[in-house]
Amino acid sequence: MTRAAGDAIVVTGVAQREAWQARVLPPVERLAGGIWSVPVPIPRSPLRYTLSYLIPADDGLVVIDPGWDSDEGWAALESGLRAAGAAPGDVLGVVVTHVHSDHHGLSKRLQETGAWVAMHPAELDALNPSGSPADWLRAHDVPEQEIAALAGTIGQHRLSEPARPDVLLEDGDAVPVKGRTLRTVWTPGHTPGHICLVEPEAGVLLTGDHLLPRISPNIGLQRPGSSPLEAFLESLEQVAAHDELEALPAHEYRFRGIAARARQLRAHHDRRCEEIVATVERLGTPGVWELASQLTWSRPWEEIGPMRVGAVAETMAHVRYLADRGALTWSGDVVTAAPQR
Ligand SMILES: [Zn+2]
Repeated sequence: MTRAAGDAIVVTGVAQREAWQARVLPPVERLAGGIWSVPVPIPRSPLRYTLSYLIPADDGLVVIDPGWDSDEGWAALESGLRAAGAAPGDVLGVVVTHVHSDHHGLSKRLQETGAWVAMHPAELDALNPSGSPADWLRAHDVPEQEIAALAGTIGQHRLSEPARPDVLLEDGDAVPVKGRTLRTVWTPGHTPGHICLVEPEAGVLLTGDHLLPRISPNIGLQRPGSSPLEAFLESLEQVAAHDELEALPAHEYRFRGIAARARQLRAHHDRRCEEIVATVERLGTPGVWELASQLTWSRPWEEIGPMRVGAVAETMAHVRYLADRGALTWSGDVVTAAPQR
């Protein structure tokens, strides 16, 4: 058995990583415990595909995160089902780790063929959005010309008519199937109702977007009064306790080293917090938009384009977290350094 040592992860989805590097779709694969990994393409996305998982049980098949709704995606899912000796009509139920379009999109088509759809109750809010994204930006002092430039690109994660859940899964709940244990681990942060799933006999943790081997999931402030970064860091501790399991993520490739990956993500956010405190000290009393524009991103701020919405939401999540700890103050308008103690 390969085990991750120290702070490194060990990639177990070797064919997936090779495909990633070659910029092609990875193969459909049969994994431990008879679970199938099926890549479902995401059109025009740097993520390229969602790894959908098919889990056979005694009374039918469960699909985890069926992927982005497109005809190409549906064809990919159908061919994965065929490899598993099944067809869409054999799908008993769908579990989504969260309701982003690249996970929940195809749930609707499976629900129409008779499958139930399951999710955590905290994802329901995202299915019933209150207020427009433009109002949300305005409430956070984003300049009007920026809002106009972003019009049409914001809220692209939202599905027009997403599948409603038939089953709600709380932390610790078992997915209702026969002859297979699939236990819910609530891991809020990336979204309020994000979940991971433990399959102890196969020795795997389905991690959704909570733990990916290469990239850090966006942790954005969604609702006033919440602290998604605090929730995310606590959720990292939750999954780090399952270090003996192989991680089956929703993107990129499979790996071992869940605790090591959790530590890396924690360290990433610690560094980000330090950068934000230092930047606020330099700027004086910036608004969150100005603050976000001064931070380092994967590309220069001028080139980020529509991703600026995510960037400012992520900045706010860090500011909220730091303000809760007294490292900054945030009036809602401006951010200021905490007085020296
Ligand atoms: Zn997501």
